[in-house]
Amino acid sequence: MLPVIALVGRPNVGKSTLFNRLTKSRDALVANYAGLTRDRKYGEAEFDGHKMILVDTGGISGDEEGIDAAMAQQSMQAIEEADFVLFLVDCRAGLTPADDMIAERLRTRSKPTILVANKVDGVNPDIALAPFYELGIGELFPTTATHGRGVRSLMERLVEGLPAPDEEGAEEEATGIKIGIVGRPNVGKSTLVNRLLGEDRVVVFDQPGTTRDSVYINYTRDEKPYTIIDTAGIRRRKNVKESVEKFSIVKTLQAVEDANVVVLVIDASEGLVDQDLHLMGSVIQAGRALVVALNKWDGLDPDHRDFVKTELERRLRFVDFADIHFISALHGTGVGNLYKSIEDAYQSATDKLSTNHLTRILQWAVSEHQPPLVNGHRIKLRYAHAGGQNPPVIVIHGNQTALVPNHYTRYLEKTFRKALDLHGTPVKIEFRTGD
Ligand code: GDP
Ligand code: GDP
Repeated sequence: MLPVIALVGRPNVGKSTLFNRLTKSRDALVANYAGLTRDRKYGEAEFDGHKMILVDTGGISGDEEGIDAAMAQQSMQAIEEADFVLFLVDCRAGLTPADDMIAERLRTRSKPTILVANKVDGVNPDIALAPFYELGIGELFPTTATHGRGVRSLMERLVEGLPAPDEEGAEEEATGIKIGIVGRPNVGKSTLVNRLLGEDRVVVFDQPGTTRDSVYINYTRDEKPYTIIDTAGIRRRKNVKESVEKFSIVKTLQAVEDANVVVLVIDASEGLVDQDLHLMGSVIQAGRALVVALNKWDGLDPDHRDFVKTELERRLRFVDFADIHFISALHGTGVGNLYKSIEDAYQSATDKLSTNHLTRILQWAVSEHQPPLVNGHRIKLRYAHAGGQNPPVIVIHGNQTALVPNHYTRYLEKTFRKALDLHGTPVKIEFRTGD
């Protein structure tokens, strides 16, 4: 499981600046999950080989009313879900009552916390830092988030406190393909989980823990082992209202990361909403194999089905590698067919790809359609080899590879996908210059 780090502090102390620096914003799966998580941003960061989920909270100012109070509440929920808290204060502004209040709240949570004294640029640290020790948080790291000063030491300390990347509990319990069932609240995830398990359910274990933990369910079907990562938590759930409250982006991102294949459940009767697209973006960003299940197909007026189908397929064209199924989890219609797509996607995501084969495909692609000239020299792509699985990474060596234009990369990706007959998984192309 990826560790979760929450950035908390009052507004304007530099949380977003630090967040963007750590997630290198461009690559982050930054999204506003409207409605459920006002003003929280989620991103993935990596430091010295440690991957983590960062949560940027909206900010707690201490005198919240109305919408701000809801935001503060959200920040507190982010803290609950976090393994580690970075508590930011502003050296220029000095210690404020809001800082005191946040410190007080953090103390009652007893989460591992580091105090980050930001905006240390242009102040005398000896004088500026002293008051913050009164907060009693313990370790204090001065930073300048805008320029990155102090951030490295901070992160070195942070990863020391995280579990080693290979200390994975759930990993050992899982057997067979790990299928992550994700989607917004009420789209039918737990109904689908029950359907997928069917009669053959063999072992079910319910992991105790916090709201952010998914339930891992091992079972066999046609004598093949599978593990469902159930983000809806069928076994603990009592009613629909609770399912909305139990919905957690962190839990969903963890499940996506840990799965081999993600089944994204969408409520066809409501159509595609922004949050479905955000979730899909997160799956693509993580490079996971994907199967799309448009659920509640039974609820659609038969006269309108063709129209809805065309419309949904058109809007989902950006994930054209993924199989789309129109199902009814409630009645079981189409559910069995998901397995074929899951198997295919898994196969494609984990196929062993030989250097010879990849290089032959590359040479063919280049001969069909040459890379462009840059500054009078043609980009040369010489050979390719596999660089990883789930998602498949294809590493291409050549000259001037940093200048390969996006459209050419997309062409290569498409060509490899076709030649290798890959279904249901994104493919990542990486370039290396030299030899
Ligand atoms: P947030 O509300 O806590 O997310 O704060 P922001 O990241 O939006 O930062 C608020 C303002 O402080 C912005 O104008 C930033 O450019 C500025 N800022 C952030 N970090 C630093 C820093 O280390 N030094 C200085 N001088 N300004 C900073
Ligand atoms: P979750 O929050 O995503 O786990 O959603 P649930 O599985 O709890 O389903 C939410 C509601 O949608 C429940 O009332 C289900 O009975 C209903 N539901 C689930 N699947 C279907 C379906 O295929 N068709 C219809 N008509 N209703 C469904």
